[in-house]
Amino acid sequence: MHLTVCHMYPDLLNLYGDRGNVIAFVQRCRWRGIRVTVREVNLGGPVSFTGCDFLFIGGGSDREQQLIASELAARLQELQAAMEDGLVVLAICGGYQLLGHYYLTLEGRKIKGLGLLDFYTTAGARRLIGNVAVEAELNGSKSVLVGFENHGGRTFLGAVEPLGKVLRGYGNNGTDGLEGARYKNVYCSYLHGPLLPKNPALTDHLISLALQRKGMDGKLADLDDTIERQAHEAMVQRLLA
Ligand code: GLN
Repeated sequence: MHLTVCHMYPDLLNLYGDRGNVIAFVQRCRWRGIRVTVREVNLGGPVSFTGCDFLFIGGGSDREQQLIASELAARLQELQAAMEDGLVVLAICGGYQLLGHYYLTLEGRKIKGLGLLDFYTTAGARRLIGNVAVEAELNGSKSVLVGFENHGGRTFLGAVEPLGKVLRGYGNNGTDGLEGARYKNVYCSYLHGPLLPKNPALTDHLISLALQRKGMDGKLADLDDTIERQAHEAMVQRLLA
């Protein structure tokens, strides 16, 4: 078993330890004997979305978002085809915003998004900062995801499902109680933390999806998650008790 991870623009999009998402994905594969190759994709560098099993895109400042938006626009068709074909994607915060129609900055500049998912983002004067708990459905069962958010953008969903419902924190915009977005195997979230180390159930869900897309059954061997579970539970208690 072998998976290829594409880590998009790691030098530009790596807020609040977002790289930890790739580390957690890779490590939880390796502990199970699944081999993983990580391809770091940098501005102007080559990338094959078709040869990729898990694509990760992290958060960044408005300036970095602008740089990447124009580069990704040139690769839109290939990325869209891969997503339609079930490519497993995790996009966080600035990376999430890039997949929508646009991001309107506080200064009134419109950063064009890829328009792959039906949502848009407008910046608000007050940043939405703090710890978050979200109820999401993974594989038919309800799960609580925890993370940390820090964004000026308010995202409003159109014809696309949210990732989950906000239990604590702001989520997409601080008003409609929704967090993230989800389409096929594309998962978008405002949650840094980083998200995957803090939520091993989500990590395993994404690994399983990537394996299933390659024709495998996606059943994963159990790991000793005592410490991960305790860390997760401590945050859940702190936020929801
Ligand atoms: N620039 C975006 C915002 O502030 C994204 C920030 C981030 O990725 N944390 O909304």
